[in-house]
Amino acid sequence: MTAEIKSEDFLREKISPHIKRLIEEGNNAIELQFKSLSKKLKKSSFKFDPLAEDTLYSPARGLTHKFSNRLLWKINLNCASYCQFCTRRRQIGLENKILSRKDIKKGINYLYQHKEIEDVIISGGDPFCTPKATEFLIKEIDKINSVKVIRIGTRLPIHSPELLARKEILSLMKIISKISTKKPIFVLLHVEHPSELTHMAKNFIQSIKKTGAIVLSQTVFLKKINDNVDVLASLFTGLYHLGVIPYYIYRCDYVRGLEKFICPIRKEMLIMTKLRKTLSGIAIPTYVIDVEGRGKIPVPLNFWRGTNLSECNDFDGKKIQI
Ligand code: SF4
Repeated sequence: MTAEIKSEDFLREKISPHIKRLIEEGNNAIELQFKSLSKKLKKSSFKFDPLAEDTLYSPARGLTHKFSNRLLWKINLNCASYCQFCTRRRQIGLENKILSRKDIKKGINYLYQHKEIEDVIISGGDPFCTPKATEFLIKEIDKINSVKVIRIGTRLPIHSPELLARKEILSLMKIISKISTKKPIFVLLHVEHPSELTHMAKNFIQSIKKTGAIVLSQTVFLKKINDNVDVLASLFTGLYHLGVIPYYIYRCDYVRGLEKFICPIRKEMLIMTKLRKTLSGIAIPTYVIDVEGRGKIPVPLNFWRGTNLSECNDFDGKKIQI
């Protein structure tokens, strides 16, 4: 689904009624994520697609095959709201937003030809925003024995939790429920701030869990939004208590247009070090930076002293010999 970037004001503002309500209630952390502050991008050395998803690694429309055993499948370019820090802001909301059945069939053929692919990650956009297409896709993938695991990324429970009642979503849930008894399905929930875990959002998440899918979370470090120990402690603990495993916290990608969201890396390391000392191990996501061609590289916390692996710091900062 390669999309050409024609202008610099491509990620327009789209805010769902649910997110709009949270903003109107004075939720600054939400407003900063969704309100588009300026249309004109400032000069920057950052690229629009630094991870080369649409060029080096795309064998067919919607597919990114970077690592031999995994396939990223962007089924649409649509979301219920547009996050202004989106890594794929170069293409979210552009025309031609949904893969056709023909495109999906081509991708399925690719999977049959590439038996080394065991893990398919369905993303977008938001696959829950096109429930019929996602349902069709996971039914097709279910028939392929070489694919052992399906992952589905979504932010719909945060953006528009009321859509849980839609019959297409309920139907998708039923299929997830059916397939997950044979093949593990992981639902990757994108969540940035504890105030996103509203009563309705929690209800949606619980419904996903009831399907038998394993729910994991993904978060991006965002300057002035969640770059704070207490905020992230509240988020990760809230997820843990819901039975959602915090999986990754990403350093914000160096994407053109995202400069204002990027925190100093040492601040992020310090925050994650403090959290590691206080939260349960299960409630701590792996802190990573996505590097083009290399994957998600874990960022070290402040426990180890340089490259000397014979000594490190304990939780109180005291030197210990290993
Ligand atoms: S939901 Fe995901 S894909 Fe959609 S705008 Fe937000 S970060 Fe981007």
